[in-house]
Amino acid sequence: MVHIDEKLEPILAEVLRRNAGEEEFHQAVKEVLESLGRVVAKHPRYANHALIERLCEPERQIIFRVPWIDDSGQVRINRGFRVQFNSALGPYKGGLRFHPSVNVGIIKFLGFEQTFKNALTGLPIGGGKGGSDFNPRGRSEGEIMRFCQSFMTELHRHLGEYTDVPAGDIGVGAREIGFMFGQYKRLTNRYEAGVLTGKGLVYGGSRARTEATGYGATYFVQSMLATKKHSFDGKRVVVSGAGNVAIYAMKKITEFGGKVVACSDSNGCVVDEKGIDLAVVKEIKEVQRERIAEYARRKGSSARYIEGGSIWDVPCDVAMPSATQNELTGKDARTLVHNGIVALGEGANMPCTPEAVRVFQEAGVMFGPGKAANAGGVATSALEMQQNASRDSWTFEQTEARLANIMRDIHDRCAETAAEYGAPGDYVLGSNIAGFVRVAEAMEAFGVI
Ligand code: GLU
Repeated sequence: MVHIDEKLEPILAEVLRRNAGEEEFHQAVKEVLESLGRVVAKHPRYANHALIERLCEPERQIIFRVPWIDDSGQVRINRGFRVQFNSALGPYKGGLRFHPSVNVGIIKFLGFEQTFKNALTGLPIGGGKGGSDFNPRGRSEGEIMRFCQSFMTELHRHLGEYTDVPAGDIGVGAREIGFMFGQYKRLTNRYEAGVLTGKGLVYGGSRARTEATGYGATYFVQSMLATKKHSFDGKRVVVSGAGNVAIYAMKKITEFGGKVVACSDSNGCVVDEKGIDLAVVKEIKEVQRERIAEYARRKGSSARYIEGGSIWDVPCDVAMPSATQNELTGKDARTLVHNGIVALGEGANMPCTPEAVRVFQEAGVMFGPGKAANAGGVATSALEMQQNASRDSWTFEQTEARLANIMRDIHDRCAETAAEYGAPGDYVLGSNIAGFVRVAEAMEAFGVI
């Protein structure tokens, strides 16, 4: 079992003390600190000048009130967040999440992860994350618009293409980005396309951004499989979730010859032995904004819906958890190992619990952690920023080719770093160290700030 190096133990103790109750943040920091022992052993200077302590403390945390009026005329209040975690490598960059579970600890864990993920892409982006405890489910288009406008009315003063560039995450897609961009433009009187990514194509969005996280995660798993002379061809795959990441992961897996037999939402999962029909999932989730149970109703006898069931009970060769944090537990991991899983790529941020990660690694399952495997979304956001800065727009093929290269590079950098630090095949260690070293070098150059 991995443990924290004794030099780093006081740092963790202090993080736990100063951020009491923020469990997901503790979990994310602990996982990174577990990997950093080997770095400080090899390069003791990284433990100087409280560099690691500074990395664990966000540069700025903004919490604000978001008042809005619902369709019945009642005033509602939500809480808005933006955690500007680290700007050593570029402007803060990371998505906005609208979900009732959002609180400062969740946003901090996501911002912390984002800092390493963004560093791994090799592109000039710092780390940040934001969102609100607003629940978009069941809200009308008018309510969503008024909420987004109110949220941006406060947030706009903290953003800028050189300062902080949000994008989408759970509950925030092209529609919400459109409402927020419109409000930003109106408030600032600036057509600053590079201030948000995930935009619509007619107003500065990038081709392939919608597909990028799911496609990128699939490319990453393909690279892992290739190291053991495997491929997706003929593999049974289970992808949890049915949102943007899951949909485009399923599409690319199918293109690579894999068969996706199950997907899910927070109510339950659907199993379709003929292979999940993506057109139906897209219609249900993106057009009708309905529950995944609808899939089984539409497909009749070929598919079954399991209300409240665990998708990880469905036997598969490859799993790609693409819903949310801690959705796959130690028990689920043991079931998957028992059923013969060979590889797993995290499409979501931190979907596997620490116990699950341990079970997979001990069983020799190839394990691609989110900060490497799902970096394709934010990498393509950085490509969107490049296109905005040069007032250019690239073809789908060009953009996807860049994405594929970036994912291959991330895979190789993680694999090489893991080998260099004496743990070949350990992508968790490789991604944490490779991400850390880039951020740390820039922070060192800046002195104590
Ligand atoms: N929310 C996505 C992530 O977790 C994308 C962020 C972005 O494009 O800025 O990486």
